[in-house]
Amino acid sequence: MTELLQPAPTGRAKCRACGRAIAKGELRLGERAPNPFGEGDATFWFHLRCGACKRPEAARAALAQTPGADADGTLAALVERGLAHPRLTRIQRIERSPSARARCRHCHETIDRELWRLALDWWEEGRYSASGFVHLGCARAWAGALDDVVTRVEQWMGALDPDARAALEQAAADTSPLPARDAGEDDAPPQTDDG
Ligand SMILES: [Zn+2]
Ligand SMILES: [Zn+2]
Repeated sequence: MTELLQPAPTGRAKCRACGRAIAKGELRLGERAPNPFGEGDATFWFHLRCGACKRPEAARAALAQTPGADADGTLAALVERGLAHPRLTRIQRIERSPSARARCRHCHETIDRELWRLALDWWEEGRYSASGFVHLGCARAWAGALDDVVTRVEQWMGALDPDARAALEQAAADTSPLPARDAGEDDAPPQTDDG
């Protein structure tokens, strides 16, 4: 895997994480990996900040080569926390469950309608796909830490509405001891129930 940081030469490439265009001239993170659909390698591009949230290994390597790109250390902090707690990188958005169909990937119970849940994604073959949900109340135990979850979710959703932000902040502020991680807990491919 080779990583690079470079100003986007055009405004045409889309970020593989958030799907939005990367503006011309903006620093972008490139992650080279075997092309899942052909021969040789492909380069997957990310907004630098999206990369720090979602691709911490690539972002760390690229930032190490480009010291000025993270003058205040914000990105490095996201990177280090994501490396320490990889499941954080899979948290995408907060929402109220529209139905009672999906099961929580942590407690395996059904997520009741109207409860807050976090939607997860999964990186495979150069793209992210939906990968189930956890109760907001289960999220900290599932991920191992939620300290910067507001930053991560807002990278996806933009500024949150006050209700959602308050719920997320409350979950992030929990400092109660976490039970030992269940080693058998799945980190496996997407589930399809999309409640
Ligand atoms: Zn992005
Ligand atoms: Zn749960």
